[in-house]
Amino acid sequence: MSRIVYVNGEYLPEEEGRISIFDRGFLFADGVYEVSAVLKGRLVDNQAHLIRLHRSLTELNIPQPLSDDDIIAAQNRLITQNNLEEGMVYLQITRGPADRDFAFPDNPEPTVILFTQQHALIDSPLVERGITIRTVEDMRWKRRDIKTVGLLAPSMAKQIALEAGADDAWMVEDGYVTEGTSNNAFIITHDNVVRTRQLSNLILHGITRAAILRLAQREPITIEETPFTREDAYGAKEAFITSATAFALSVVEIDGHSIGDAKPGPLVRRLRELYIDTALGE
Ligand code: PMP
Repeated sequence: MSRIVYVNGEYLPEEEGRISIFDRGFLFADGVYEVSAVLKGRLVDNQAHLIRLHRSLTELNIPQPLSDDDIIAAQNRLITQNNLEEGMVYLQITRGPADRDFAFPDNPEPTVILFTQQHALIDSPLVERGITIRTVEDMRWKRRDIKTVGLLAPSMAKQIALEAGADDAWMVEDGYVTEGTSNNAFIITHDNVVRTRQLSNLILHGITRAAILRLAQREPITIEETPFTREDAYGAKEAFITSATAFALSVVEIDGHSIGDAKPGPLVRRLRELYIDTALGE
């Protein structure tokens, strides 16, 4: 049975979802998106994702075509109609169709699409194994704080990592790690300092990053929002990534250097547990 997807107000079998070839999302990557995790059929930290969505739309001057209540209703309807217990809901808003022109159209009619994907998030096989990372040069633009669908550079970075036998890439700029291809990057030093790059226009302001930093305050660890180098990462006690669907996930090898004993470590395990407990308790 095919999924039901949402396209501009309609709920359709996925084969019937259609958008214009003139859509600026397609021609210019002129659009933004959000991914909210679903656990036990319920959205995780969705309000924070909607706040970031507003910000992305505002930065690009795309009018918000639906109220938050309408978005939440659409998300929940897809979860129900697709019997989604665990996975994610994807939401994308583009500036919509217009004759091809670099200038923004005067009266845009944004395109809104949503779909669901089923994934095992809590019991992902990567939790026990941990993931391996290759570092690559960060080739992206300078407004990485806007969550646009212009994802070719991180997609290339991930492909380079996969072809090198790793699970994902961390991107490096001016000698410092910016973030992962679709996640924020963290290290934990031998004196229990959690380090992750500070917020700026050079990284996405991860919703899970913020949640994990809040939860980390409950643990006997210090948090430092400062950039770190590859070498800092090679020598870390533990390392991890955060994203809406990965939660907190251990990194056990970076550019061939084992992190700790190359197994997921206790602090990341603890942060992951805290995050999942909080999400399930929402
Ligand atoms: N950085 C980048 C570049 C991302 O694409 C993502 C996920 N979309 C994240 C960080 C993690 O953000 P979040 O925790 O909000 O999923």
